[in-house]
Amino acid sequence: MDLELQRKQTLRRLMKYIKPYRGAFILSIIGMIGYAAVDSFFLSQIQTLIDDGLTDQNSRILMIGALFVPVIFIVRGIFNFVSSYFLSWVGFKVVTRLRQQLFEHMMQLPVSFHDQHSTGDLISKITYTTQQIAEASSRAILILIREGAFVIGLLTIMFYHSWQLSLVFLIVGPLVAKVVAVVSKRFRQVSNRIQTAMGNVTTTAEQMLNGHKVVVMYEGQEREADSFKEVNNVTRNQNMKLVIARTLSTSVIQFIASLSLAMVLFILSFPDMLEELSGGAFAALLAAMMMLLRPLKQLTNVNSDFQRGIAAAQSVFEVLDERPEIDQGEHRIGRAKGRIEFENVSFTYNETDAPALHEVSFSVEPGKILALVGRSGSGKSTISNLLTRFYDVECGKILLDGVDIKDYELKCLRRQLAVVSQHVTLFNESIANNIAYGAMGSVTPEQIKAAAEQAYVTEFTDDLPNGLDTTVGENGVMLSGGQRQRIAIARALLRDAPILILDEATSALDTESERHIQNALSALQRDRTSIVIAHRLSTIENADEILVLEDGSILERGSHQELLESEGAYYQLYNLQFSGSH
Ligand code: ADP
Ligand code: MG
Repeated sequence: MDLELQRKQTLRRLMKYIKPYRGAFILSIIGMIGYAAVDSFFLSQIQTLIDDGLTDQNSRILMIGALFVPVIFIVRGIFNFVSSYFLSWVGFKVVTRLRQQLFEHMMQLPVSFHDQHSTGDLISKITYTTQQIAEASSRAILILIREGAFVIGLLTIMFYHSWQLSLVFLIVGPLVAKVVAVVSKRFRQVSNRIQTAMGNVTTTAEQMLNGHKVVVMYEGQEREADSFKEVNNVTRNQNMKLVIARTLSTSVIQFIASLSLAMVLFILSFPDMLEELSGGAFAALLAAMMMLLRPLKQLTNVNSDFQRGIAAAQSVFEVLDERPEIDQGEHRIGRAKGRIEFENVSFTYNETDAPALHEVSFSVEPGKILALVGRSGSGKSTISNLLTRFYDVECGKILLDGVDIKDYELKCLRRQLAVVSQHVTLFNESIANNIAYGAMGSVTPEQIKAAAEQAYVTEFTDDLPNGLDTTVGENGVMLSGGQRQRIAIARALLRDAPILILDEATSALDTESERHIQNALSALQRDRTSIVIAHRLSTIENADEILVLEDGSILERGSHQELLESEGAYYQLYNLQFSGSH
C-alpha cells in the first residue's frame, strides 16, 4: 500500500512537468477524443446505411454516404495528426527538461554519491531512462484517452440499440478488470527488474570499454564476456517475462470477450428479442462488440506502459532527490591570505573502514610550503580531499584564514584552491582550452601561452602541427602521462589561486622535466600557500614543514634538516631514495 502511495506521488510529480505545456497537452487530448468520436460516429451510421439504404433501397442515402466517407477520413487524419504531434511535443519537452535537470543535479551531488554509483548506471539514467518515461507514458496516455473514449462511444451505440444485450458487457467488465489487476502487478515487478538489468548492461559494457587495455593485456576477455553474457541474458529473460505476461493477458481477455459474444447470440435467440432488433441495429451492435476487443486489449497493456513509465520516473526522481553537496556557508571573500589550520581532524570514508585520518593537527602560514610524505594509503590525498570539501570532516575543524571552511560559500572556498592531482582529467578539447578550463574570468591567448611555457607544455606542443590548438582526444588519450601532468600544472598556474595543492603532481615526469617544472613551481609558490604531496623527497627539501604520515596519523614533523637529524622514519626513507637513485 505504501508502494501504491509512492507511485501516486511519482505520478503527481510527473504531472508537474507536464503542467507548463498544458495548452499543447489539452490540444492533443482534444485530438484523441475527436479521433474516437469520428470512429464512433462512423460506426453509428451503419444502422442507417443497412436499414434505410440497403433494406429500403434508398439510393440517396448511399450517395450521401459515398460523399461523407472521404470527408470523415480527412477529419480523422487531422485529429490523429494533432494528437500525435502535440503529445510527442510535450513528451520531448519533458524528456529534455528531465535530462538537463539530471545532468545539472549530478554535478552538484557530493563526491561520496559518485563513489557509490557506477558511471554506467548514471549515464543510462540520463540517456535511456528519461526517454522511457516519455515513451511509455505518452503511449499510455494515448491509449487511455483515445481508446477509452472509443470504448465509451461504442458502449453508447450498444446501449442505444439494445440495453439488454449491452448489459452482458457489465458482467464481463469486472472480470476483465480482475485480470488486468493481476497482470499489472506482475508488470510492475518485471519492469523494475528490466530497469536494473539495463543499468547493469551499461555498467559492464562501460567497464570493458574503459579498461580495454587492461582486459586485453591480462586476458580478461573471457571473464568480461562471461559477465556480460550474464547481465545480457538477465535483460532478455526479464523482457521475455514481460512478453509472456502481456500476450497471456491479451488472450485471456479476448477469451472473456468471446464468451460475452456467445452470450449475446444466446440471448438474441429468444423470439421477443429477435422481433425487437432490426438487421441494421444488430449489425451495428455486433460490429461495436467486435471492435471493443481491440481497445480492450490495448487498455490491458496500457498498464504495462504506465508501470514502465512510473518505474522509470521513480528511478530518475530518486537521483534528483539526492541531497546536493552541503553548501550552507555564507562567508565570502575575494582572495584569501592562505592560512590553513587543521585542528584534530579525523575522517573515515565508510563507517566500516579504519579512519583515513586520525586526529591530525597542523597549520601553514600564508606563503609557506607544507610537504606531506608517507606510504600510499597513509592519508595524504585525504587531506587534499577534505580541504576542497570533496568530503566533510566529522571530527575536528579545518580553518582557512581563521574561518571554518564549512562557513565559506562552497564556490568561494574552491576558488581559493588550485589542485594538481595524481589523476589528471582532460576534456576532449584543444590543449589551450584545457589549460584555460579553471581560469577565473577571461584569459587571453598570451596568458595561456605564458602558462604553457612555464609548465613546459610548449616543449612538446611546438612539435605538433596545430600547437596548443591540438585536440587531446577523450581524456587526453593522445598524450603521455608526463604531458598530461604538464597541462594540469599549466591549468593550475593560470588559475592563480592563493593556495596550491600538488598531489604527486610531477610523479609521471622524468627527472629533467621535473627539475625544469620545479623551477616554475618554485616561482609560483613564492606568494602562495602550498601543500605538496611528494613521492620524491628531493622535491620537498625546501619545504617549511614536512609531515610524515602513517596510517592517518602524523608520525613525525619538522624541517628537512630537523627530520634528518632526528634519524627517524623520514631519515630512513631519505636514505632509501638517496641510495636508490644513485
Ligand atoms: P594516499 O594519498 O596517502 O595514498 P589516501 O588519502 O588516498 O592515501 O587514502 C587513505 C585511506 O583512505 C586509504 O586506506 C584508502 O583506501 C582510503 N580511501 C581513499 N579514498 C577513498 C574513497 N573514495 N572511499 C573509500 N576509501 C577511500
Ligand atoms: Mg594519494
